[in-house]
Amino acid sequence: MKKATTCVHAGSNSHNPAHGMNTPIYTSSAFGYLDTIENIYPRYYNTPNQEVVVQKLCALEQGEAGLLFGSGMAAISTTMLALLETGDHVILQRDLYGGTHHFVTIELKRVGISYTLVEEPTVDQLEAAIRTTTKLVYIETPSNPLLKITDVAAVGSWAQQHRLISVIDNTFASPINQNPIPLGIDVVIHSGTKYLGGHSDLCFGAVITSQPLRDRIYATAINLGGSVNAATCALIERSLKTLSLRVHQQNKNAQAIADFLQQHPRVQQVHYPGLTDHPGYDIARQQMQGFGGMLSFEPAVEGSAGAEQFMRKLKVITPAISLGGVESLICAPAKTSHIKLSTEERKQVGVSDELLRISVGIEDTEDLLEDLQQALVMNND
Ligand SMILES: *Cc1c(COP(=O)(O)O)cnc(C)c1O
Repeated sequence: MKKATTCVHAGSNSHNPAHGMNTPIYTSSAFGYLDTIENIYPRYYNTPNQEVVVQKLCALEQGEAGLLFGSGMAAISTTMLALLETGDHVILQRDLYGGTHHFVTIELKRVGISYTLVEEPTVDQLEAAIRTTTKLVYIETPSNPLLKITDVAAVGSWAQQHRLISVIDNTFASPINQNPIPLGIDVVIHSGTKYLGGHSDLCFGAVITSQPLRDRIYATAINLGGSVNAATCALIERSLKTLSLRVHQQNKNAQAIADFLQQHPRVQQVHYPGLTDHPGYDIARQQMQGFGGMLSFEPAVEGSAGAEQFMRKLKVITPAISLGGVESLICAPAKTSHIKLSTEERKQVGVSDELLRISVGIEDTEDLLEDLQQALVMNND
């Protein structure tokens, strides 16, 4: 099955005695056990509604097994706590989602798990960071907010050579644009709050991996208890049916916006992996089926105030945090994801006060371009 078909059909209808088109919502937290092989319970991650969603995600990511969590951070923290022990070392790329960075530098450190952040997870930099205690390598591509691209297959095979577990946060790409498991990565994590949910109204996370690794993560997951309720699972299942449709429109809109911004005299820099002069373009073209709906750029404005003034002129694209929804959102990373860094630290990671990130939605392409065009007209024009 192709992905659009998988989105609609995989997993759905497997728990439906009345043959309805939609999976019934099993509201129970208590299930009979005398005639079942395994005891069903929400925190055992095995209720019918959880299973349907996991089957869909496994089919989309070409993984054997998975788990669904109450947030992306629950998926990330549970995975690392399950696969690492005191004394272990983990290598991560420096460009990480802020919550992941906090978790690693505060919580993992607290339980005696050390880490190295590499500027770019190239084989050379990974080689330089590896220790005898290294157990896991963790990447995120495209990255936030500069859409840097990591060579997924190179990291996967390097990790295999050194018998390390490789983990990727695949949130920005979505399973429609990038499937890391066939590229050699062991564990794929999503903040489902973003593209998978897709309507800015759900919070969940997912892990997709092999059966043995799923079982290892599961053993810790039942103790940490970050599972999802059935009503949310039903909404996730419904959202996933349109994932391919949504992401294709987001890819198309983002490419059009990136092309438009790049040739605009009032725009200094555009970061989008679908632009041929983006440093990650060649690798992105090999490992992604679409370049995604995320981009960032610097309009020719002065500082944070100028960036804010620009955002307030927009009529369709809405200033808001988070990403992956049907509506186009814009935010200034200097005032949102990177607010805790000093101006100096932000400069180091390439996040200027003027940088704006757009999470492109599914609106009509022309309306989005017109909105940006009118906002780029300056007062003195
Ligand atoms: C949002 C996000 C997360 C965390 O997900 P939550 O659902 O907010 O816990 C992790 N990684 C990336 C790339 C994200 O964008």
